[in-house]
Amino acid sequence: MCMVENICSRCGKVGPLAKVGTTRCRPCLNAIAREYRAEHPEECRRYYRVYQHRLRLRALQAYGGKCSCCGETRPEFLSFDHINGGGRIHRRSIRKNGVDGGGLEAWLRRQGYPSGFRVLCHNCNQALGQYGYCPHIAGSHYLQDIEGWRDKRQHVV
Ligand SMILES: [Zn+2]
Ligand SMILES: [Zn+2]
Ligand SMILES: [Zn+2]
Repeated sequence: MCMVENICSRCGKVGPLAKVGTTRCRPCLNAIAREYRAEHPEECRRYYRVYQHRLRLRALQAYGGKCSCCGETRPEFLSFDHINGGGRIHRRSIRKNGVDGGGLEAWLRRQGYPSGFRVLCHNCNQALGQYGYCPHIAGSHYLQDIEGWRDKRQHVV
C-alpha cells in the first residue's frame, strides 16, 4: 500500500495518510473510530456480533456446514472439533496470541481452513467428549452399563 505524504484534513499535520482513499492520518482515523464507538455503542455491538456471525458461518461452511455425526445445520447448535484432540490447548494459545479477537474462527480463516477440524453439534460433541461415543452411531450404552453392572454383582454374590 502506498503511503502518500499529505496534509491530514482533520488535524492539519503533514505526514502519511492512513490509507488510500482517506484524507486523514492514522491517529485521526483511530480517534474518529473511537468517538463513533463511544457515541453509538449499541450499533457497534450489533456490528461486531454480525461480524462474528459471518466469520463463524464461513468457517462452518468450509467444514461442511453441518454436524458430521447427526447432520444438524442450525449454527446455534454447532461447534468446531479438533479431530485429533488438543482443542482446549489450541484455543488457549489462539486467545493468547490473538490479534483480531476472532478466536478459532478467525484463526481458521487465516490458515485457509486447514484439515484436522470438523463440525459437531453440542450434543454429539458432548457425548463424544464425556462418554467416548455418540449414541446416534453407537447406540446408547447407558442402560446396558447399568444392567451389566447388576449382572456382574449377582454373579459375585
Ligand atoms: Zn490527523
Ligand atoms: Zn450432532
Ligand atoms: Zn451424534
